[in-house]
Amino acid sequence: MIFDWDDLHETNHRLDLLGQLREANPAFRCTVFAVPGCGSDSFWESLPDWVERAVHGWVHPDPYECVNWTRQDMERLLDEPVIQKHFGCGFKAPGWQISDDCYQVLLERGWWVADQHLEDGRRPPMRVYFYEDGNWHGHIQNVCRNGIEETWGELVKAVEGAEDFRFCSEAARFYPDSDDSGAGTLPFGVPGLSRSPDVS
Ligand SMILES: [Zn+2]
Repeated sequence: MIFDWDDLHETNHRLDLLGQLREANPAFRCTVFAVPGCGSDSFWESLPDWVERAVHGWVHPDPYECVNWTRQDMERLLDEPVIQKHFGCGFKAPGWQISDDCYQVLLERGWWVADQHLEDGRRPPMRVYFYEDGNWHGHIQNVCRNGIEETWGELVKAVEGAEDFRFCSEAARFYPDSDDSGAGTLPFGVPGLSRSPDVS
């Protein structure tokens, strides 16, 4: 199973609770979509290796930070020394609000993107991670009713019961591939719908 959380940074990390999850199941690993401009070198270095870091905007002032980003904006972000030094090659736009130029630069540089099937119609073929395909997604803080603390009981059960853990980078796959025929043309790209006997 894959667990990911958004918005981690130096003053919003809940490493206390993530540590408790690791105690509940020593195999526990997770991916955080973290805010690179809101952390010091020493903070990023202090994160344990069972917490994978992917890029979530630059300073994430609101959910629309990247919605109009140009190619130059995106290239500048990926060239930031803090990202080169402390982050893996995965990206998720704040609020899922991603521009076409962001996709293009990620694709050219061989990065993967965490995205929703909602965008299947306009995303170029590239490596994508979908939490919607049966994984756990939430926020570090209590927001959107999926914060670590506010889902704690259910979360501990899920971590205790999980047989294996993967990072988002390990689950990111080239999409669409031949197994996804038709999915990209459905209104919301519902996975599996095109293979249902009721839909020819
Ligand atoms: Zn966010």
